[in-house]
Amino acid sequence: MDRSKTVRPLGIVSALPEEMGGLGLALEKGELVEAAGYHFHHGRVDGHPVVLAEAGCGKVATAIVASLLADRFGCAGLVFSGVAGGLDPALAIGDIVIADELIQHDYGAVAGGRLTAYHPGLAPIGPLTQPAGFRLDPELRRAIAESIAGFSIPPSAAGGRPGRVLLGRVLSGDQFVNCAATRDRLHQDFGGQAVEMEGGALAQVGERFGIPCVVVRCLSDLAGAESHMDFAKFLPLAANAATIVVRRVLPIMWAAVS
Ligand code: SAH
Repeated sequence: MDRSKTVRPLGIVSALPEEMGGLGLALEKGELVEAAGYHFHHGRVDGHPVVLAEAGCGKVATAIVASLLADRFGCAGLVFSGVAGGLDPALAIGDIVIADELIQHDYGAVAGGRLTAYHPGLAPIGPLTQPAGFRLDPELRRAIAESIAGFSIPPSAAGGRPGRVLLGRVLSGDQFVNCAATRDRLHQDFGGQAVEMEGGALAQVGERFGIPCVVVRCLSDLAGAESHMDFAKFLPLAANAATIVVRRVLPIMWAAVS
């Protein structure tokens, strides 16, 4: 490796301590920096320079942390490691979705009681000039698809059955979905495999800074009436499975940005 070049790290974000736990353990620790009340842990994971930060829940908190990672800490790419609610009836708790598209399901215009989603940052009025979602770069998508082909999470780490790993559409909004009717409406309106509260914000920051963003989510619940109980029960398992997939994606991200 050419040590004379400054190596830009990848920024890895989670919302919750449980989600960051596995990567925290894998971190060869470097400097710890505090900014805006958040802790930014510099170091290496599997030999790759990273900055880990736990942002808390929701799109604004995520955007603050992601902007600091991109601007102040010079991160060359962003990765989210965490859990989500399932939207697609074909998926089960323990399955892992890597977002190839992220839609902020609560950003847009409401008319006649229905929301039309707009591309975040664009004024939600008038004709749609851009798709609502943020899409993964096609090269990066291809490399990730190749790396996960035939790969699953061992049953011991996924709750008794192998965890499927797939690319899919992930919805983000500032709500914990604990309601089957809302889940079904979201799935009907947007399609998609998972719903969470941060990924679309990370993608928006990535787009502004011109850096790639990969969101990895393991289903902790199915976003229905029992999702608060499933979430509490499966959070540790799901967070761990997401970490396994993130560590598989890191070398790909690394190759894409260096
Ligand atoms: N404060 C609670 C709940 C956290 S909110 C606790 O810690 O017990 C849930 C977190 O997991 C969010 O960061 C979100 O991105 C993700 N998530 C998991 N299931 C979700 C669901 N059904 N709807 C929305 N977000 C979900």
